[in-house]
Amino acid sequence: MRPYILSESNWKSVKQEKTEVAVLTWGATEAHNYHLPYGTDNYQIEAIAAEAGKIASKKGAKLKVLPNIPFGVNTGQADIELDMNLNPSTQFAILSDIIEVLNRQGIYKLILLNGHGGNNFKPILRELGLKYPKMLLVTSNFFDVVDKSQFFEEEGDHADEMETSLVMYLKPELVSDLKEAGNGKENKSRITGIREGWAWAERQWSMVTEDTGIGNPRKATKEKGEGFFKAVTEKLANLILEISEVDIKNRYE
Ligand SMILES: [Zn+2]
Repeated sequence: MRPYILSESNWKSVKQEKTEVAVLTWGATEAHNYHLPYGTDNYQIEAIAAEAGKIASKKGAKLKVLPNIPFGVNTGQADIELDMNLNPSTQFAILSDIIEVLNRQGIYKLILLNGHGGNNFKPILRELGLKYPKMLLVTSNFFDVVDKSQFFEEEGDHADEMETSLVMYLKPELVSDLKEAGNGKENKSRITGIREGWAWAERQWSMVTEDTGIGNPRKATKEKGEGFFKAVTEKLANLILEISEVDIKNRYE
């Protein structure tokens, strides 16, 4: 039993130590080019949370990693078979219920670890923060924790070199031969502002990429995945530890 993982804990261990901070991971279930599993985002974020939780727990953080939520916002992929979608308003409702439980029980710190680019928790946490003023609500995207270019050669953001390397490290049995993979070519927008990144419209996935990937996975290796995983989990462990220890009312210097 890992006492920092709620699903493995029993009531005895839960009663023994007051939980300071809950860590909730949120992934997605979606196609990841031809070579990675639909559960990629979930496998990644669950492994990252478990490892960061382990490191933080050893250093004294009082945390519980809650079970992962496996469906994310996939509104741009409605025509890709079995890409599952939860609307942002559904995510709001789910988070509202979870935060209500924590707030009622006096667990006033929540870290929401995001594993999927289509999930955007900031506006939801702004609104729920207003509703639950005692709560410290924090979110982090695992893919933004460290500079990816220090670990990977090719840019991308979906089933790319980074994700392929990570799954090679975490779940090698679920990665197909890279000869099976498409090249993850992204068709760029004809609209200048969108192409340059200072204007935004949701990407219509099936128009943007043929193989559902964005970013060439060919240079992925298990070793790159391991290096990235260690760097990300070290930093997230520190985030968990600092939040576990911080006095909410006195959290600015
Ligand atoms: Zn992914």
